[in-house]
Amino acid sequence: MSAQGRIVVVGSLNADLTIYTERLPNPGETLQGEGFIVNPGGKSANQAVAAGRLGGDVSLIGAVGRDSNGDMLLASAAAAGVDVSRVRRADNVETGVAVVTVDAHGENSIVISAGANGTVVPADIAAAKDVFDGAAAVCLCLEIALESVEAAARAGNDAGATVLLNLSPFAPVPEGLAEAADVLLVNAHEASQFLGGADIPGPEAEAGEWETVRLKFAEHRLDRAVVTLGAHGSVVLDSLAEDGRRVTRIAPTKVDAVDTTGAGDAFTGALAARLAAGEALAEAAAFASVAAALATTRKGTQAAYPSLVDVQARLA
Ligand code: ATP
Repeated sequence: MSAQGRIVVVGSLNADLTIYTERLPNPGETLQGEGFIVNPGGKSANQAVAAGRLGGDVSLIGAVGRDSNGDMLLASAAAAGVDVSRVRRADNVETGVAVVTVDAHGENSIVISAGANGTVVPADIAAAKDVFDGAAAVCLCLEIALESVEAAARAGNDAGATVLLNLSPFAPVPEGLAEAADVLLVNAHEASQFLGGADIPGPEAEAGEWETVRLKFAEHRLDRAVVTLGAHGSVVLDSLAEDGRRVTRIAPTKVDAVDTTGAGDAFTGALAARLAAGEALAEAAAFASVAAALATTRKGTQAAYPSLVDVQARLA
């Protein structure tokens, strides 16, 4: 791999509080659970850890409270080699949490309390200008206030970095934010929502059907997008591809998936790591596809993310 440029991940850190039950509770009902775990999570923390484990030079910008969940999140990111010095410890507010209930079929229901993530403001981005300077990639999602996401996208543009925008959890975004993104990352559902309910081709679709989707993204001045399709792999839509391949279908990596939670974040972090190392989008997506597939073969999110050696072994 060529030399790594810096990756700046801006956004959310959450403690995932997960309880397992036979079935999800009805309104007003109390159920006996069958196990409880607390894991580091939050889309941005996950993306940072995924990139860090793959050898990325990663800085994470966000906020946690002065509580044990905050300690856990910082320790997990730091263990992956992520620079957490710009994760602010916010006073008088708890670390963000996601309260997750998972039933016997793997179906879940999730409630998120933003906590300290809600205190991330554009001033935090401005205060980290030195981190953006010279960055190769900036990774954004929608788990913090839109105005802060916009400020980070602008900072990424000003630094000449490749700005990756993961439209998750989906929310309508101002046209200016979409334009500031160099690469949009969406699953099929988010792609449809962004394109006003457009039909998204199924797994067996021909390249021509994806060409239609590429043109729709281009109408929003989005020249490059990656649509992830879960166990069906992903599709790279690249109007700027130097080799002229505007649609590239990335076949899924065959694995025995045991837990797909956070696969999208593993994909995003891995993609950022490879783009920051100078790879073309389609090549980087092919690598990310392997990394994300491996992440599904172990339980948990950050704990399940593969190292560079793991991915290289699978590619060998
Ligand atoms: P999440 O929100 O759960 O993180 P997502 O909807 O953002 O997921 P997906 O499209 O489900 O993202 O998955 C992202 C990528 O992970 C896929 O494009 C694929 O490369 C890989 N992946 C996910 N599930 C599997 C699987 N069962 N087998 C192989 N690869 C998978």
